[in-house]
Amino acid sequence: MTTVETALGPVATGELGPTLMHEHVVTRSPGVQENWPHLWDRNAILAIAERKMADLYRRNIRAIVDLTTVDLGRDIGLIVDVARRSRVHVIVATGVWWMPQRYFSAHGVDAVAELFIRDRPACRSRPTRGPRAAPARLSRRSSRRRASI
Ligand SMILES: [Zn+2]
Repeated sequence: MTTVETALGPVATGELGPTLMHEHVVTRSPGVQENWPHLWDRNAILAIAERKMADLYRRNIRAIVDLTTVDLGRDIGLIVDVARRSRVHVIVATGVWWMPQRYFSAHGVDAVAELFIRDRPACRSRPTRGPRAAPARLSRRSSRRRASI
């Protein structure tokens, strides 16, 4: 059985169904929430996301690929919470998109690859190195299509 990692763990690819391939549950400007938390209403965002995911399900969408990277303010805890409230599977991305944080250039390729490998849901809860796997290929190209969720 072939599976794909989702925010809530592996899912058989045969169970995915119609999948939107380039979505964003939420994007943020890294550093803004940490310094001005009053701008971030997590419960309101969860409510909006829950409503939009339910709408997707009604439209027969069974999975989305969330391509929000760390430089787009990915919040994996939020994505997991959205997935728990939804009947739509959420496949999450790793890597960086366009504006990598200084950390990445300061620590080198191997350290960054290790972070991206640890991004796999199965590795996230492990305190030590996760299993070796080929790092995902990173693309500098971006889709022109923008998601609305
Ligand atoms: Zn995008």
